[in-house]
Amino acid sequence: MTTQSEGAKKESSTRHPRARSGSAAWHMSREAVSISVPDIVKATDRQCLDVLVQVRFGSWDTVSCPHCGTVSKHYWRPLEKRWKCAGCGSTFSVTSGTIFARRKKSYQYILSSVLMWVNSAAGQSALELKRHMDTTYNTAFTLQHKIREALVRGYNVGLMNGDVEMDGAHQSGWRADEKRGKPQGSRPVQSDADPFALTEIMLTQTGKNAARKKAKNSGPINPEFGNRFPKDRRILFAIRKRSGVRGKGACATRVAIGLTETSPVVKAVLNDFVAMPESYLNTDSSPAYTELGKEFRMHRTVEHAKELSGPNGENNNQAEELNARFDRAEKGIYLNIEPKYMLDYAVETSFRSDTRRLPNGEQLKLAMCVALNVGESEFWKGFTHGHHRKIELLHPHPQPAHASGPMKGRHPISSANGRPPR
Ligand SMILES: [Zn+2]
Repeated sequence: MTTQSEGAKKESSTRHPRARSGSAAWHMSREAVSISVPDIVKATDRQCLDVLVQVRFGSWDTVSCPHCGTVSKHYWRPLEKRWKCAGCGSTFSVTSGTIFARRKKSYQYILSSVLMWVNSAAGQSALELKRHMDTTYNTAFTLQHKIREALVRGYNVGLMNGDVEMDGAHQSGWRADEKRGKPQGSRPVQSDADPFALTEIMLTQTGKNAARKKAKNSGPINPEFGNRFPKDRRILFAIRKRSGVRGKGACATRVAIGLTETSPVVKAVLNDFVAMPESYLNTDSSPAYTELGKEFRMHRTVEHAKELSGPNGENNNQAEELNARFDRAEKGIYLNIEPKYMLDYAVETSFRSDTRRLPNGEQLKLAMCVALNVGESEFWKGFTHGHHRKIELLHPHPQPAHASGPMKGRHPISSANGRPPR
């Protein structure tokens, strides 16, 4: 034991101060990349179809008709690339009844777009995909959002049990309204101005003080201090199941959005995602978890003001990891995430985190499997024709949300739409 630790000490003194981590070793490995965009571009229609059929139906022999549900081999019409159902006689393609229904793009286009989306580990802006695929902004934007929708409806569902961590993180609602779509951070140069008058100049210059004050005082009540949150403030709840293997982190994740971190909201989230009587709960010392913790086999808490991990290893670091990942996606890629679609982005983050150590071909198959098995798009069908989602998916209840995108007939990239796209 002593020789080992001495050896480690010796090694650490000569080693580079930033040694390669486990995830760096993974990403540098040959196994991390099992498919590339050139692979898909070179593939024939039939090869792409084989992948999609396998991902959606399992095999060519177990094809399920989206019209009547009959599982059979059906009659394949190679020229149309459609089946004729052996049960009801309707015809359908591999994308009928999925989020890609009525697609105009080729299989290669869909697969390579989704692969590029998967490959962008922190997230991908619609403008980036637009450039990669040389398509319109709307096509790229709705494609990405349809994948997120599929994950919301097909991936972020079901109960978890075991050793579960939960944490709420404050998101949004911080000066976003004031900054959106306007030039930032300047005031007139006044060399002989009274330095004490600067604050006054600054406030009148922004001219937004009253609006900011109003926005600050129109949100839900902060349970901790009794003041009001800004109206766009949301809490992102991350619930993660520990893998139980040292160094492997979490193995499953659910996310939810609420207006406050209070016990009724936490209860609704836990009811949806955790089998409480057979699980262990790990949280920070927020009072929202105190009563609900009693419904678990055990409730361990860590006091974050004092320590990252308690004396017996109490921590919720896996949940914190997801929050950090979400922050990175927002700060680095999405810049300010609208509350209405916050859940969509959070689920994307949780998918990326859960699949972080899978080869990218497996990530692609998993994303496509969910995308082809949740039915047609409910949120994004007809988006470019002015049909926008009317609700924000919140716990405990969804709430009405206005369409926030450009109205039908307006150019989506026009700066008159409030802000330029990313
Ligand atoms: Zn049928």
